Amino acid sequence: MLEKILLAKPRGFCAGVERAVEIVERLLQQFGPPVYVKHEIVHNRFVVDDFKNRGVVFLENPADAPEGAVMVFSAHGVSRAVRQSAQARGQKIFDATCPLVTKVHAEILRHRRNNREVVMIGHRGHPEVEGALGQADNGIHLVENENDIQNLHIARPDRVSFVTQTTLSVDDTARLVNLLREKFPAVAAPRKEDICYATQNRQDAVKRLADESDMVLVVGSPESSNSNRLREVALARGAPARLIDRAENARAEWLQNARTVGVTAGASAPESLVNEVVEWLRRAAPDAEVREMDGIEETVVFAVPRALAKNHAP
Ligand code: SF4
Repeated sequence: MLEKILLAKPRGFCAGVERAVEIVERLLQQFGPPVYVKHEIVHNRFVVDDFKNRGVVFLENPADAPEGAVMVFSAHGVSRAVRQSAQARGQKIFDATCPLVTKVHAEILRHRRNNREVVMIGHRGHPEVEGALGQADNGIHLVENENDIQNLHIARPDRVSFVTQTTLSVDDTARLVNLLREKFPAVAAPRKEDICYATQNRQDAVKRLADESDMVLVVGSPESSNSNRLREVALARGAPARLIDRAENARAEWLQNARTVGVTAGASAPESLVNEVVEWLRRAAPDAEVREMDGIEETVVFAVPRALAKNHAP
């Protein structure tokens, strides 16, 4: 019988997602629909569907949008080729790339300018990785796992650096970095960790949550990298964990034998969806205690581009 509902802290929206969503909101106000967005602005179905209903058009190729259109690059960032395609069509570009992703792009460019090869640890096909790989024409290698590292060939092992996707598992990445260092002892690390503060904080919090829960519900969409990692981290900690887009995807039978259910949310999942899940749990167990765990109070805020700032004089 469910007795306790525990909420992870922190959970849900990070500063990069807040900023990306705010950019699209302000563009809708300033220009009206249609606003075009390269890729889903953030990986959350609820957020994307809400914007679609208000005239936002999501597409993969800026060439599919009209010349001069308002074009937003999603929080995941884009390759140089995508940027050039939007520029070639004279589109009004608003870049919602998270500043922490832009930092990784800058690292890649700096390494290539210094004639260093770059190893990127990340998930093949993820838009953030596609955008990062697309910062350089050559000399950048993607590795996802141990095999990729074993098969990796670097021309000058004394001139190689690594970068990582921002939303990876902290523990898995540490393992891959160790393997890289064994194979290429001179490999240089980023000055500051590429896995972002939000990923790190949410994974730390879900570990504490999993330790106290009989089951963990992670609110997030299946495409969301950091939400998937939260589920994996909880599982690795020994708690059965499910990823759900929203409350309607939850099943009553999951609650059998669970006295404490933990709830967290990926960095792209709004708090309203967490509230829905808590309400669903409370309908199943009206007397259950609801408690937020102790955790880090996040204060990171990323400003929107100047052209969209509310007090900006055109
Ligand atoms: Fe930026 Fe991290 Fe949020 Fe991604 S998860 S948008 S890198 S703060």
